[in-house]
Amino acid sequence: MSNENTYQGKCFCGAVELAFSGEPEMMAYCHCDSCRHWAASPISSFTLWKPDSLRVTSGADNIATYSKTPQSLRKWCKQCGGHLFTEHPDMGLTDVPAAVINGFTFKPAIHVNYQETVLPLKDGLPKFKDLPKQAGGSGEELSE
Ligand SMILES: [Zn+2]
Ligand SMILES: [Zn+2]
Repeated sequence: MSNENTYQGKCFCGAVELAFSGEPEMMAYCHCDSCRHWAASPISSFTLWKPDSLRVTSGADNIATYSKTPQSLRKWCKQCGGHLFTEHPDMGLTDVPAAVINGFTFKPAIHVNYQETVLPLKDGLPKFKDLPKQAGGSGEELSE
C-alpha cells in the first residue's frame, strides 16, 4: 500500500482541503430522495472510499457535521456551506461527491435507487431498483 496522494479535493471556498490515496471502491449515481435533497440536484454522482484513503489536509476546524440518521455523518464547510463527504460508519465507507475531487474522471458503474428517479437516463448502465444485493438491497434491476 502506498500513501502517495492520488487526488486532492476542496470545499467550495477552499478553506477545507482533502487528499486521497488509491482509487475509490465504487463510483455510481444515486437517484434517492435523500441524496437529491442533500445534493440539491436531480441526481447524485458519488464515489465510495475506504475511510483511511481520505485525509483532511487543511481547515479541519471548519468542518461541521449533520446527521439525520446514525448511518450518515454528513460533513460540510462552515465557511461556505459546501459539501465535503459523508461517513457511513455501518458500511465502513466514506462517500465523496465526485465534483469535490479536483480533476477527477468520474466513471460510474451503476445507478442505485432508480425507482425514485426524477431524471431517467439512457446510458446503458445497470439500474438497480434499490441497491445491489452485496450492499443490502434487493438486487433487482429496472429497464431504462
Ligand atoms: Zn468552504
Ligand atoms: Zn441516495
